[in-house]
Amino acid sequence: MKQFPVPKNEQARLQLLHDLELLDSAPEPIFDHIVALVRKVFAADAAFISLIDERRQWFKANVGLPFDETPREHAFCSHVVSSGATLVVTDALCDPRFQNNPYVDCKGGIRGYAGAAVTLNEDHHIGTLCVVTQTPRTFTEAEIQQLETLARWVALTIEEHYELANYRAERDLLAQGPMCMVVWRVEPSVGLSYVAENAQRVLGYPSEYLLREDIRYESIVHPEDRGELLTRMQRLIDGHEDALEMDYRVIQPTADGQQIKWVHHFARVDRGAQQEVLRIRGYLTDDSKGKALELELQETNQNFELALTAGELFTWSWLIPTNRLMVSDSWRRRMGYHDRPPGSFDWFTCVHPADQKLLRVAIEQHLKGQTPRFEVRFRMRHHDGHYLWLHSVGRLVEEDTEFGPAKMTGIHHDITSEVEKANYLKQQSSLLKLISYVQHEFMLAKDFRDVCDHALPELMKVTASGVGLVGELAEASVSPTQLKVHGLQLEDDAEHTHTGLEESAASIQVMISGAVAEAALQQGEPQLCHAEVSALDMRLSPELLPRLRNALLLPLHFKQEVVGVLLLGNRDEPYQPHHIELLRPILDTLGTLLHVRRMEEERLVALERLRKMATTDELTGVANRRVFWEAVTSRYDEFMRYNVPMSVAIIDLDHFKQINDTYGHAAGDKVLRQFCEIVKTQLRDLDLLGRLGGEEFAILLPYTVEAEATKALERIRKHLSETPIVLPEQALQITFSAGITQLSPQDTLLDHWLARADEALYRAKALGRNQCVTAPAAD
Ligand code: GH3
Ligand code: MG
Ligand code: MG
Repeated sequence: MKQFPVPKNEQARLQLLHDLELLDSAPEPIFDHIVALVRKVFAADAAFISLIDERRQWFKANVGLPFDETPREHAFCSHVVSSGATLVVTDALCDPRFQNNPYVDCKGGIRGYAGAAVTLNEDHHIGTLCVVTQTPRTFTEAEIQQLETLARWVALTIEEHYELANYRAERDLLAQGPMCMVVWRVEPSVGLSYVAENAQRVLGYPSEYLLREDIRYESIVHPEDRGELLTRMQRLIDGHEDALEMDYRVIQPTADGQQIKWVHHFARVDRGAQQEVLRIRGYLTDDSKGKALELELQETNQNFELALTAGELFTWSWLIPTNRLMVSDSWRRRMGYHDRPPGSFDWFTCVHPADQKLLRVAIEQHLKGQTPRFEVRFRMRHHDGHYLWLHSVGRLVEEDTEFGPAKMTGIHHDITSEVEKANYLKQQSSLLKLISYVQHEFMLAKDFRDVCDHALPELMKVTASGVGLVGELAEASVSPTQLKVHGLQLEDDAEHTHTGLEESAASIQVMISGAVAEAALQQGEPQLCHAEVSALDMRLSPELLPRLRNALLLPLHFKQEVVGVLLLGNRDEPYQPHHIELLRPILDTLGTLLHVRRMEEERLVALERLRKMATTDELTGVANRRVFWEAVTSRYDEFMRYNVPMSVAIIDLDHFKQINDTYGHAAGDKVLRQFCEIVKTQLRDLDLLGRLGGEEFAILLPYTVEAEATKALERIRKHLSETPIVLPEQALQITFSAGITQLSPQDTLLDHWLARADEALYRAKALGRNQCVTAPAAD
């Protein structure tokens, strides 16, 4: 049976390993350099970086071994990966674990081995950095530390590589989208310097073609639009405008002639320190669909006029003195009032409240003789409660010399379906514009809250909603019902005077619950609530919204996964399935942007973490050796030049080895951490504390003469003697020795100065420790 030790978090570890996409990938110079360096430093026969997957170890980089992988059960590294601890084997033939290993028990087989874990996320040991020798080999403590440091470097490099891969994935995602980015240089002449890969899809030309020296971009633009584009680009360069936004036609050659594509072009100028133009960045979107809709809309409007003169017409006559409106039978049937007598109507009872004024004015104007005929479009309520759109024309036909106007007659024409179709097209077209707008905005500012602030009012307008909310779902592992609110808008009305709720609600966390919410989130299907929305249907806690009379809850997807929701509510009439159809494209856009936002956020967090790790000492959080020496070097140049006082102190803890020996290495680490905390309380902001290594520290004290520096160190020493270090079992008192010296004009080399501090430290130790020795500057 195959046997090898398996780590506790094996599943998660393997998942991470596969996510990294490093297994079986091509060699990369950075890893090859690292193993070459390691083999040289350790004078080993081979060095390699191995990754351990389900069944094998595979070498990401390898010098000295004549194969690329081995079965997992034969890998020394399996032991390292399972515990995370560095494994050292002095002579494999004497180690029962490896005696019978086929890579040991052979000619020229492995005898000496040292491997340190390559660890990501604190405890995911994905592989090792290790060296092997063909003869028995002991490894010193210093060597092991070196190997562990290098293994950490490998882990950092892998992490960076992974971030890069994520970043590329994000870029690819946008490259598959409907927007193409192009960049124009301006010097020495205006020309394209970058064209995104998806140019073929958006413009119909491959990027290589557009980037050719002999091709001018305007040559693909329709001749009728070319002039305007060039003029406006020039205005942009001359600084007359900050941004350019224009729709124009691009001509594409096809097998049998040419075809035209509409693009939406948005461009901005990047300027340098002197306001000179560095480049112009343009975002091009295929707008053919939007244009087609616009043209269709124009056509419907024309059809509309035609329809007025055909189709079903309903006659009416109005007896003005008695205010009786006589309507035809067919009209009563159309309106659902079969049983009501023909003469029992009046003009205003069934008219939509919002249209009453319009109608009144139109009638008055005609009766006063200001218009040759009465003509108006308005909504009238059907017996069922829904509204029909009417186009009504009429004329005064009888006038009483004594009492004035006596009778008007005219026709109603039911134009509901035409109006609805026109509205739908108009809404579709404005949503397409919205989609392209929010994509631009997001590309430029990466601010999803801004996207919501733009999108929500528009979506509420299109659906006549009184409430709108966009929320991002926490990752399922955090909570399946936790929403981060990115946008909230309430209609401004008397009932809900502006309370600032919208501003404060953005970015807060709420829990969403209820049967309707669950259906939307779990099945990923849009949900309609026709009537009052109860807490059983959907509830947000804490409560953010006014009572909802009806609602539309729409899941936002990225690929198959629900990543958030769009909630619209409080429409005067119930929501209809066609609202869902109408909104679908923007739902996809919001879902994708949410996903990209999340990846961007994770990338920034990871970058910050990497930056921190690169500049601070992992154990104590103070400046690491590299950063400390960089600061010393740059300050040395500056302070020597201006002859300003500066001192340095080098500190070494006394008898630290005993602490490790008595309480263990982990306790020793705690002591080092607390020591740094204690010292920091005694320093000025401009002093820099760094860890040089082990239990050796240094403090750089700018603008400080020797006497002051000595005082400061004595103060620290006193404070340390009064502050016990607290370990779980007991409290300890520790001391240190320090060497202090001031920079002198004779220190023509940085090393002169530092060597003096080192010597002073040495004297402090020799004089019995727990003291500060000051080395006067050389004369
Ligand atoms: P003195 O300086 O007073 O001469 O005695 P010392 O015992 O402090 O001297 P030495 O420099 O020989 O020992 C330093 C010890 O510090 C050795 C090493 O085990 C320990 N050490 C180095 N780095 C770390 C660390 O990161 N954590 C812990 N716990 N111990 C460390
Ligand atoms: Mg010491
Ligand atoms: Mg020491």
